[in-house]
Amino acid sequence: MNLSAPPPHLDRLLQPATAHPRAWDLLRSLCDDVGARFPCTEGDVAAVAWAQEALGLAGLERVHAEPAEATLWHRGAESCSLLLPRQQSVALTALGGSVGTPEGGIEAEVIEFASLEALDAARPEEVAGKVVYLHHVMPRMRDGTGYNAASAVRMRGPSHAARKGALACLVRSVGTDSWRAAHTGALWYHAGAPQIPAAALAIPDAELLHRALAEGKRVRTVLALGCSPMPVGMSANVLGDIPGTDLGGEIVLLGAHLDSWDLGTGALDDGAGCAIAIEAARRIASLPARPRRTVRVVLFANEELGSGGGRAYASAHAAEAGRHVAALEADQGDGKPWALRVPAAMRESALARALHASLAPLGIELDPGVSRGGVDLAPLGHLGVPFVDLRQDVTRYFDFHHTANDVLDNVSRVEIEEATMAFSVAVWLLANAEESFSGVNQGEGTATRADIAAR
Ligand SMILES: [Zn+2]
Repeated sequence: MNLSAPPPHLDRLLQPATAHPRAWDLLRSLCDDVGARFPCTEGDVAAVAWAQEALGLAGLERVHAEPAEATLWHRGAESCSLLLPRQQSVALTALGGSVGTPEGGIEAEVIEFASLEALDAARPEEVAGKVVYLHHVMPRMRDGTGYNAASAVRMRGPSHAARKGALACLVRSVGTDSWRAAHTGALWYHAGAPQIPAAALAIPDAELLHRALAEGKRVRTVLALGCSPMPVGMSANVLGDIPGTDLGGEIVLLGAHLDSWDLGTGALDDGAGCAIAIEAARRIASLPARPRRTVRVVLFANEELGSGGGRAYASAHAAEAGRHVAALEADQGDGKPWALRVPAAMRESALARALHASLAPLGIELDPGVSRGGVDLAPLGHLGVPFVDLRQDVTRYFDFHHTANDVLDNVSRVEIEEATMAFSVAVWLLANAEESFSGVNQGEGTATRADIAAR
């Protein structure tokens, strides 16, 4: 490909299919026919079959499932009430991985901290025997800034509270809505700290509790969580290829994660990414020409609690890691992409300019930041695979993320179509360009578990 000219057939990929938004149709099928997809549930098994059928129908070849270890956990029944300053039942949901409460629940006074640092600075006798409440407010931003900091409080808070002798830990939901639907998400128990039950309060209930404590009132709560961690199980990554022509030994990977939390139907997280990836590949497979490089779609297992799918793919494909010349992940819901990020060393390259020029008609700018991939791609980053990011607009995403409201009704048909176009254009260009990002060390740009491309 001449870098001064766009790749062949690019114009076709820039045509919206507004009369028949296929990405949305795929997502409708995943949400309605399969539903929630927590590993080792019926939905997970159905999703692996659904994904193989969808990739085959999209025209991909060598479609198959590969085993991936998955962290398992069961939610069970959950309830919480404030007893003081007055009786009120509040909406909460357990954090993924949490242990349950003893029979009859836990009843205790609540003590609030604004940060992990403030909690760490507290005297143990202030905290011991109480329920710790962590009040961290996540802002609403187009780029999701604030998710990392908020999810760090969610993930680490329970062990910090346990070290001070707390009986349980509550967090303000990591979200931007004001509905009585709590946002779940993974926690990390630190080795050496007691494992205490932990849950997220719906934001209006968290604010109620916060206002009472701010006014100096005594707050007392009773909570019962029926959740329990379970032994490791097996799920599967689902893969399919559009084999390349003369550079077919090289791979451009487009990923998303097939698993979801149990509360909604995983429409935005990450059913949307799966639909975007499958439909972007279908558009490419239906062009009159084959890509020069192999385009591989990988729908990862177990992203939400354990990253088993990402680790399984990297270990099964370690020998061909060097042939992955770019990896992208769609894991930011249905949002319209607004910026492109490439590896730092390639920002001034002709390939970065060509990518940007091809995406500019969709309103996408070149971001000054370094590409970071997604959680599922992180193990590949450690093997030197370069990432390309399409940053999606997540202004609405965190209203629904990890809640019972993550359902099809909250997905935009227009935006998911725009995201599909952008991913298809980026992948098509990367698969056909003369240059590649191969050999670029992703280095410090690799995403962590807490990154936004996350979830
Ligand atoms: Zn996700």
